[in-house]
Amino acid sequence: MTTSHLTHWIAGRPWTGTAERHGDVYDPATGRVTAQVDFAGPEVVDEAVAAALDAFREWRHTSVAKRTGVLFAFRELLHAGRDELAALIVSEHGKVHSDALGEVARGLEVVEYACGIPQLAKGSYTEQASTGVDVYSLRQPLGPVAVISPFNFPAMVPMWFFPLAIATGNTVVVKPSEKDPSAANHLAGLWREAGLPDGVFNVVHGDKAAVDRLLEHPDIKAVSFVGSTPVARYVYEHGTRHGKRVQALGGAKNHMLVLPDADLDLAADAAVNAGYGAAGERCMAVSVLVAVDPVGDDLVERIKQRIATLTVGPGSAPGSAMGPLVTGPHRDKVTSYLDSGTADGAVLAADGRKHAVDGDPGGFWLGPTLFDHVRPGMSVYDDEIFGPVLSVVRVPSYDAGLALINANPYGNGTALFTNDGGAARRFQHEVEVGMVGINVPIPVPVAYYSFGGWKSSLFGDAHAYGEDGVRFFTRGKAITQRWPDPSHGGLNLGFPTNS
Ligand code: NAD
Repeated sequence: MTTSHLTHWIAGRPWTGTAERHGDVYDPATGRVTAQVDFAGPEVVDEAVAAALDAFREWRHTSVAKRTGVLFAFRELLHAGRDELAALIVSEHGKVHSDALGEVARGLEVVEYACGIPQLAKGSYTEQASTGVDVYSLRQPLGPVAVISPFNFPAMVPMWFFPLAIATGNTVVVKPSEKDPSAANHLAGLWREAGLPDGVFNVVHGDKAAVDRLLEHPDIKAVSFVGSTPVARYVYEHGTRHGKRVQALGGAKNHMLVLPDADLDLAADAAVNAGYGAAGERCMAVSVLVAVDPVGDDLVERIKQRIATLTVGPGSAPGSAMGPLVTGPHRDKVTSYLDSGTADGAVLAADGRKHAVDGDPGGFWLGPTLFDHVRPGMSVYDDEIFGPVLSVVRVPSYDAGLALINANPYGNGTALFTNDGGAARRFQHEVEVGMVGINVPIPVPVAYYSFGGWKSSLFGDAHAYGEDGVRFFTRGKAITQRWPDPSHGGLNLGFPTNS
């Protein structure tokens, strides 16, 4: 089988140099290498940033009307070609096609939100703030900004950021995950077709070396990062040390609390959908189900019944409910938790190694796995596994469940299942998590609310997209103006006061 060659996208075209380092890209459903991707060293990153800086000089002066026109054209192309992009995601990530289409749709939502930039980035104006003096504010772009994204949403996560960055007049260098790099290049092609000037959107591929150069480069003004918590913390600390504005979204351990009055079929469906969708490789996946006594046995039974019906197979096959994991080493790491969880005393209620797979034996498979009687202190509870492993923790009361969630170091998403409105109101008020679902298992906010977790799930103070996104990619300027009347002259060294 032939492998293709993927390279950086700089100043509106593929890079033509020769890379010193490469990475292998796999089809997770077969385990075969399908492409080699160039890795950028500091010089290539410098080239991309120089292109972005060059483009910024024009783009920041381009009218809001023209910028919006390009965004609308990009939206149309993305929408018309969503199937093609989804297929590309499936071929490198492994998720099933319908799920990849969902990913594209949620990214498209942010593009549509950014099409409203004339309204979103409006300033304010106060006439006659002082006698004969008007005060008004503007929001202006920052310059070249970097977007560094994880493997699990190769199209959607970059689209959480770059539509608003570009709409507000910045230029962008994206550093996608080296595991599934093609989606970013595909998006670059769409931007060119949409009429975006060369250099406004650039892509560099690679690993830590490319990230470090972006974090240190004096012309990069802001960094939006999404990935695991240790790297998010590092990116935040290293980037801010170099004077940049940074938002760094990290890992997660999302708990779903089920109260005894909940509809248990609805809760079991939600736990399976949110636990095993995308093989658990979602930052908003439910990985811990907290069952308030006495519903634990009943819930575990209902979940086991549903797991047995799931078809595991290639993401491209219409019958597959769940695809493979992204790489062989990741699959092996996730599988190792089946041993450590058992050794720690958790009960393996469904063993994903025994689940039938309808696919190539070389694929990176692991079926849906369920652990019961999990407790904090066990590695399956403490670690973010990022695979199809759902843990059930039993608690005696709502208060014990809430305390468990609030004690967890992560705070990305959580969900409560109940029919009690009072309990739901209490939960939304008391829980220390950034995104909360009430009878909704994966509460990813719509584009006009911002996305972000608390605690170790986000470093920085700006969430992604929504109003936070507009603010993150712009800086405010306040202007105080007077058109002098000759009679108002004269010396006065006192601090200006209003009258
Ligand atoms: P990762 O942290 O390994 O990689 C993320 C990005 O950082 C990639 O572009 C990678 O090349 C780069 N990188 C990796 N190691 C680095 C290092 N040492 N120094 C500098 N850069 C480095 O994450 P991943 O495995 O690609 O993605 C999965 C993780 O992302 C999970 O922890 C998941 O929870 C998290 N995630 C979080 C959110 C969120 O919104 N909070 C969304 C999606 C994914």
